[in-house]
Amino acid sequence: MLNGVLLLAEAVLYFGAMVTLFRFRARIGLGVFVCALGVMHFLETYLASVFYVQLPFGMVSPGSAVMFSGKLVMLLLLYMKEDAATVRQPIYGLLLGNALMIGLVLVLRLHTISPLPDGKVPDIGFIDEMGWLMVWGTTLLFIDAILIILLYEKLGAYLRHLPFARIFASVACVLTFDQIGFFTALHFVAGAPIAVFFGGWFAKMGAALAYSGMLVAYLKWVEDHDVAVPRGLSDIFDTLTYRERYEALIKYVGRDGLTGLLHRGSFDADGESAVAAAINIGKPLSLLIVDVDHFKSINDRFGHAEGDKVLKSTAAMLAETVGGSDQVFRIGGEEFAILTQQPHASARLLGESIRNAAKTSAHTGRYDITVSAGVSTVSETTRCLADIFALADQRLYKAKSSGRDRVVGEPGGEAITRGVSPKTA
Ligand code: GH3
Ligand code: MG
Ligand code: MG
Repeated sequence: MLNGVLLLAEAVLYFGAMVTLFRFRARIGLGVFVCALGVMHFLETYLASVFYVQLPFGMVSPGSAVMFSGKLVMLLLLYMKEDAATVRQPIYGLLLGNALMIGLVLVLRLHTISPLPDGKVPDIGFIDEMGWLMVWGTTLLFIDAILIILLYEKLGAYLRHLPFARIFASVACVLTFDQIGFFTALHFVAGAPIAVFFGGWFAKMGAALAYSGMLVAYLKWVEDHDVAVPRGLSDIFDTLTYRERYEALIKYVGRDGLTGLLHRGSFDADGESAVAAAINIGKPLSLLIVDVDHFKSINDRFGHAEGDKVLKSTAAMLAETVGGSDQVFRIGGEEFAILTQQPHASARLLGESIRNAAKTSAHTGRYDITVSAGVSTVSETTRCLADIFALADQRLYKAKSSGRDRVVGEPGGEAITRGVSPKTA
């Protein structure tokens, strides 16, 4: 019982001190945290080879179980808040440091040693034993760290909203694997009995529970406490990993902040390659430029915020109306472009669908929304983005000057419907 309480106290002390160093990493540098983590490794190995504690049900655990589990949790924390490249540093440092230690001991044993006044002589055998345990321990830790990152990432697909379950499952699985590996060495090097396997495993599972709880609390109440950026419910714990953050970022790169559509820069880049691809494979490609009619008057009469709402709903309408392979861009204030792999006539029909959809979108009955569009298609005479853009823009201008609320395409093809000028005109 007392041992159980002491182990828990060790976990709390270890966790508290380490996350404090981690918490202030921006001010004191991450090196302090990493160094402290490395130093603990010596104590862990020493305890693993000679220090065993009695647990309930006659189990015996190496005294290192709590600290070793803590180190793994610290590596996971490092991965969550920093990235895999940062986790690599302490792991390689420990591996190479231990290898260096073995090398140095090989040289040290060549010394002629003068005994101390009280007759004490160094116990090289013990250093040997510890050295090999350390090398084996860090090799395992190397595998553990990779495993825990992979597992934590994988579990993200199922347990994204259950941070405790996600952390505990990752830590418990990897500690079980580690216990099998480390006990095997302990058994052969130090002659540890099988009771040590179960005792160590039991202690590690207890540690996994305690650390997972503390880590979730730390992430929720300390690490993310002063984050100013508004967050969605989904990442309230901000346990997003580097990869997840990267993917989230990629999703927003090239997008317009207001509507979430691809922006002008994306249009220039994607448009140019779409035209090149269409010419290469001989597939049709059309461009629609859609412009909201008399949009300025909505801003003027109902305010800019209302105007923004119209832009958002127009963007949503466009995304909903176009086909799956079509791309929608916001290329100006209330100007949108659509790239579609359709021949001219179908692109024009798409324009008509958009024109109709714009009209039916209700804006609390206070005003109507209409749009005008110009349509152009890649052909013998228009073989680059600038060409089809100029043509579509010219036709948009024609749609505007001939009364708005209409779609203008090639001169030969008649517009299918002609609208009436909107009320806002
Ligand atoms: P037309 O029918 O000829 O297209 O008339 P219009 O009023 O829609 O055209 P104009 O280009 O004169 O006006 C566009 C307006 O869009 C001007 C600008 O204040 C407004 N605008 C541009 N970007 C935004 C935005 O992000 N939010 C809001 N609310 N308004 C914007
Ligand atoms: Mg306009
Ligand atoms: Mg405009």
